[in-house]
Amino acid sequence: MNDHTPRKHHMNAFETVQHYFNRAADQLELDSSWRKLMMMPSREITVEVPVEMDDGRLETLVGFRVQHNNARGPMKGGLRYHHEVDLDEVRALASLMTWKTAVVNIPYGGAKGGICVSPRELSVKEKERITRKFIDQIHEIIGPDKDIPAPDMGTDSRTMAWIRNQWEKYHGFNPACITGKPVEDYGAKGREEATGRGVGILAFKLLKRLGHRPPETRVIIQGFGNVGSHAAKFMHESEFKIIGISDVSGGYINEDGLDIPAALHHVIENRTLEGFSGAKKISNDELLIHDCEMLIPAALGGVIHSENVNDIKAKIIIEGANGPVDADADEVLFERGVAVLPDVLANAGGVTVSYFEWVQNRQYYSWDLNRVRQQLDAILSAAFEEVWQESQNANVSLRTAAFMLAVNRVRKSMELAGI
Ligand code: GLU
Repeated sequence: MNDHTPRKHHMNAFETVQHYFNRAADQLELDSSWRKLMMMPSREITVEVPVEMDDGRLETLVGFRVQHNNARGPMKGGLRYHHEVDLDEVRALASLMTWKTAVVNIPYGGAKGGICVSPRELSVKEKERITRKFIDQIHEIIGPDKDIPAPDMGTDSRTMAWIRNQWEKYHGFNPACITGKPVEDYGAKGREEATGRGVGILAFKLLKRLGHRPPETRVIIQGFGNVGSHAAKFMHESEFKIIGISDVSGGYINEDGLDIPAALHHVIENRTLEGFSGAKKISNDELLIHDCEMLIPAALGGVIHSENVNDIKAKIIIEGANGPVDADADEVLFERGVAVLPDVLANAGGVTVSYFEWVQNRQYYSWDLNRVRQQLDAILSAAFEEVWQESQNANVSLRTAAFMLAVNRVRKSMELAGI
């Protein structure tokens, strides 16, 4: 999304996650030494990524990998290529991965990486050279038992195939060194759809708990990339009434419900939603505050903030993106009784199927799509019920409940291992 008006941040991304962590730590009565130990990343690296561009120019980019915590298993988390990537953001996202893998109880810690670059401005060959150079710089600290990268914004299965190939040049055959690979190249069936599908599964669970039904629920999805488009497809098939979608080209509204298969087709043909008929065009800012029952921010972080939170009409927010609601806005939404399903649960479908991919790679065995979908449903449903119960028992928001479960699990592992 590039048409959001600039916003004032009271907290940066890492401070926001820290704030959510501390709210849970207060409930758990965690002392300050534990808080410090658990919040601080275990390792952060910044590397130079020199690359020759197609026109012969030498470009020097900067890449990051932050490894936050490995108490529960090898560290896990995506690689983001975006022009706003910086160490603070990667650090925030790495810590979110620690809590996310703990919420859904898969045997991983948390990490994240990224390169500050605009992927849309790169040719395929440039992107490949950048990726390979980045792996040359970090190959020693990643691997199947250490830290397993995956796709995130600006990267996809093709990027993962280059990473695997480059990593294996140093360490030998081992496809479990990376997840989110192409299906024909040791990837898992259902990995690409997993995050969006998970968003849909969880949206349905929450809706049911709140006593509503999909056909009566008007949904707006902000972002039509991997997460937003797959969420739209799955939710359309599950009879939700999707009235709004958006991408870089703007927002598209149809009060009677959008023709989602036509929108998906339009994007395949034209790359963006620009020119999509059967909808009224509005800006991305207008889309977020448009009347609806359920809002799904599925693009960048920080899009719901103190300046637009009072205009948000939705009563339910599902965080498809990582960190879309900043801490000030989160308080306001809680006071207004808006149910926010937090990123650490809402978009955990992706890393869950990454886990299935890693398991299959290690067993040289491939699951069929049905098995992937069933196991995904089982893991997300169990996590949802635990988070829901915790929020009821402790009388806290779903976010605080999710963080309480996660922080407890990570602390338990750290305690058992000893310092
Ligand atoms: N980048 C995704 C996330 O933020 C997926 C990470 C993974 O599969 O390891 O959860």
